Amino acid sequence: MKNRKVLIAGGAGFIGSHLCDYYVSKGNRVVCLDNLATGAKANIEHLISSSSFTFVNADVVRLKEISLDGDFDMVFNLASPASPPDYFRLPVETLRVNSLGTENLLELARRCDAKFLFASTSEVYGDPLIPVQKEEYWGNVNSIGPRSVYDEAKRYGEAMVMAYFRKYNVDTRIVRIFNTYGPRMRLKDGRVIPNFIAQLLEKKPLTVYGDGKQTRSFCYVDDLVAGLAGIMEKDYHLPVNLGNPGEFTILELAEIIQKIAGMKTEIEFLPPLEDDPRRRKPDITRAKELMGWQPSVPLEEGLKKTLDYFKKSM
Ligand code: NAD
Ligand code: UDP
Repeated sequence: MKNRKVLIAGGAGFIGSHLCDYYVSKGNRVVCLDNLATGAKANIEHLISSSSFTFVNADVVRLKEISLDGDFDMVFNLASPASPPDYFRLPVETLRVNSLGTENLLELARRCDAKFLFASTSEVYGDPLIPVQKEEYWGNVNSIGPRSVYDEAKRYGEAMVMAYFRKYNVDTRIVRIFNTYGPRMRLKDGRVIPNFIAQLLEKKPLTVYGDGKQTRSFCYVDDLVAGLAGIMEKDYHLPVNLGNPGEFTILELAEIIQKIAGMKTEIEFLPPLEDDPRRRKPDITRAKELMGWQPSVPLEEGLKKTLDYFKKSM
């Protein structure tokens, strides 16, 4: 479908910039709203000259102070720090963007009668007590720990989305994104894949927090973007997990990255992070049944593309 007007808050970030590419390439008009807190203009530089693309440098928390020219058909809310070091550094901003920012964007969607999507996270499950996380699981979150500024902000965001759906019939969606990686992550954003790649390229030891036996499931960004766009077309309002169900320990990930890079450095074990979830693996049955979605890019292939990107950008 083309010719729609799409607002992407957080569009200058890693995932958001790929989503901007997707909608521009399909013949839509895209407004990217971003305050560049953790994103970069370089991620959208190639779109700036397109007449279908507009960049607005603004904070969604202060959306009421700017006049957005637009009768949007779709509003995506991806605006939020996402890497643990980013939200540890920006705790209050993270709480505000997911609460007040989400409410502001919901109001905008209500005014425009637009479809709305909130980028939530697997972090709403906290340190899960079940091995595979289904959307029905309510989670195990420490409400006052260092990660709470992100986890609880996203949980509040989800509650706000459901309130606008129930009270005002806004056409909302909630997507719980599991660890996603790919080109345009910041090499120093602190997440495990860019960290390991940067450390290898700089011939430094790979830093493993804790025993490295904690698990994560890594989804390549193109697969995720296809899922986000797919959900936006569906008339479905409960949370939907999007992620790659392949589960790897952090030590396994280190080995795979060393293998595809053809380089090896020492592993340096550092103290575990507080409340670091021990395991994460999405149950994606709901996304499969709703839209036939499942990831298609294997970890090694996605890591090769990511490594190539980082090599070029260093
Ligand atoms: P990112 O940090 O690269 O992108 C987030 C973008 O939001 C940045 O461009 C940042 O400048 C912008 N932003 C932050 N606060 C803002 C504000 N107040 N006003 C306007 N813009 C603001 O992170 P990402 O990995 O691309 O994540 C995008 C979204 O997906 C986030 O909401 C994140 O919570 C969610 N998510 C990501 C992952 C992942 O693995 N990448 C996993 C779960 C959820
Ligand atoms: N991690 C690690 N070394 C690093 C960065 C992260 O061992 O240099 C671990 C981290 O403790 C966590 C996992 O890798 O268990 C994934 O961390 P990331 O920050 O990428 O995402 P999270 O899933 O924690 O949001």
